[in-house]
Amino acid sequence: MFNSLQDKLESAFKNLKGQARITELNVAATVKEIRRALVDADVNYKIAKEFTDKIKDKAMGEKVLNAISPGQLMVKIVKDELTELMGGEEAVFNAKGSPAVILIAGLQGSGKTTFSGKLANFLKSKKGLSPLLVAADIYRPAAMEQLRVLGEQIGVDVHIEPENKDAVSIAQNAVATARSKNKNVVIIDTAGRLAIDEAMMTEVSNIKNAINPQEILFVVDSMTGQDAVNTAKAFNERLDFSGVVLTKLDGDTRGGAALSIKYTVNKPIKFVSNGEKMDALDVFYPERMAQRILG
Ligand code: GDP
Repeated sequence: MFNSLQDKLESAFKNLKGQARITELNVAATVKEIRRALVDADVNYKIAKEFTDKIKDKAMGEKVLNAISPGQLMVKIVKDELTELMGGEEAVFNAKGSPAVILIAGLQGSGKTTFSGKLANFLKSKKGLSPLLVAADIYRPAAMEQLRVLGEQIGVDVHIEPENKDAVSIAQNAVATARSKNKNVVIIDTAGRLAIDEAMMTEVSNIKNAINPQEILFVVDSMTGQDAVNTAKAFNERLDFSGVVLTKLDGDTRGGAALSIKYTVNKPIKFVSNGEKMDALDVFYPERMAQRILG
């Protein structure tokens, strides 16, 4: 049976009861358990190691309170530190502007189109905004159709130009259309490839330069584990994005990608997507994710 990190720490620390403080000796074995738990949750090994080294320093000398067990105390230290690392509080999402322009980027299959629909739905129903969705994936007619269907489902207009083969001009036209139709937020769903690709990066950075978006959200599949870090790095180098969207958290991933990405690119995670339905979207809460990673 799978033991949670909490259970493992309880047993690793069971001989510690009655001692006044955590010492280096006590902590070594525990740190190993924590590191293993993080790697099991798909946190990059190097990051897990750096993180646990920090935990070790933090835990040492910490009083073992009578009220809670040493294992629980350790879990609390780890959880607080994870929460802090992932941003502490909920991140700010900027959808103000006339119109606010939000660019969505990521690999194909990461969940961009689904997220674009969800974000439009969220901004419409929860924030009272009037969004315009934009299909800027000129390579896959199916992607345009998918967005059109989603727009219909949530009652949001979708800007589509099936004959236009220039994604930059589609984005520019869409912003002009939004202005003329009094839409206050434009969400641009861009093309993705199966792997990092120079042409894709150039296109999306050309769109960025042409329309100067308020927010650039990088969408990444949380199930891709270690690869998610490299993808995030590559997109951040080219786009300097403003936030991360983690998708498919309804799967069986423990969500370690959240920690690895935040650690590597130091950009806030803003939303998590956890299902195919249009309302399966949450703002990102670091504490909840810390709990999930710890298992
Ligand atoms: P895109 O190529 O990046 O636009 O990706 P899509 O939005 O088309 O998503 C790819 C697949 O993943 C589709 O089958 C979606 O229904 C599915 N998908 C997207 N987001 C989620 C999610 O949060 N959870 C689950 N289970 N599936 C998702």
